[in-house]
Amino acid sequence: MMNWNGVCQKKINQNLMKHEPDLLFRYLDQTRVLYGNHIFLDGQTDKNAVQDIDDLESLNSSICQCQKCPLGGTRTNFVFGVGNPKADIVFVGEAPGEKEDLVGEPFVGRAGKLLDKILTAIDLSRNDVYICNVLKCRPPKNRDPLPSEVNLCEPYLKTQLSLINPKLIVALGRIAACTILRTKEPLKNLRNRIFKYEGIDLLVTYHPAALLRNPNFKIPAWEDFQLIRDKYLTQD
Ligand code: URA
Repeated sequence: MMNWNGVCQKKINQNLMKHEPDLLFRYLDQTRVLYGNHIFLDGQTDKNAVQDIDDLESLNSSICQCQKCPLGGTRTNFVFGVGNPKADIVFVGEAPGEKEDLVGEPFVGRAGKLLDKILTAIDLSRNDVYICNVLKCRPPKNRDPLPSEVNLCEPYLKTQLSLINPKLIVALGRIAACTILRTKEPLKNLRNRIFKYEGIDLLVTYHPAALLRNPNFKIPAWEDFQLIRDKYLTQD
C-alpha cells in the first residue's frame, strides 16, 4: 500500500500517463472515493504464491496476508473458509460480513446460524461441508464485490475448489451466483438448474440472509436443500 505521493512519484505507468491520462485520473479518483487516500497496485504481491500448494492450510498461509486489492487494507481478518477439506459439498457466499470479518470465519452471524440449522435439517453439520466466500475480505459497509476485487480473489476460490474437489458447489444468493456464473439473471431463473464451475456441478439457492428477511423464501429454499440431499449426499 502506498500513499498518493508515493504513487505519483514512483509508480504511475508512464505510457498510461502519456496516452490515457483521463482514464488514469478517473481510475485514481474512483479509487480515492472507494478506499480513501491509498492505492493498491498489482504486482506488489508474489504472483506465484498459489502455485505448488497441495493442501488448504498451506494455501491459507500463503494468501492470508494478501494485499492485491484495497480490501486487504480495510479488513480485520482474512476469511479463508472452514469445514471438511474433503467435503462433497462446498457452500459459497459472496463475501464476509461484519461478524465474519471480526471472527475470521465465514457465516458466523445470524445468516450463518440459519445456515447451520438448514444443514442440520439435512443431517449435516459445518464439519461435513466446506463453507467459504468468493471474496476473502469484507467490502466496506457490506457493499457488493467489485469486478476488480472478484478478478483478483476468484483464483483463491478456484484453488480451494481444486484442492477439495467436491461433487457439488452451492452458490448462496444472487450475488455469489451471478458473480461466479458471470450472469445478471434473477435468482429465480438460476434455481433448479445444474451449472458447471471449474468442471464441478453448481446449484444456486437463496442466501440465508434473504430467508431471514423474507420468510416466503423458506419453502423454496427447503426444496433446494432437499434436492441437494437427494442428489449429492450418498449414504455410505
Ligand atoms: N454473507 C456471506 O455471503 N458470507 C458470509 O460469510 C457471511 C454473510
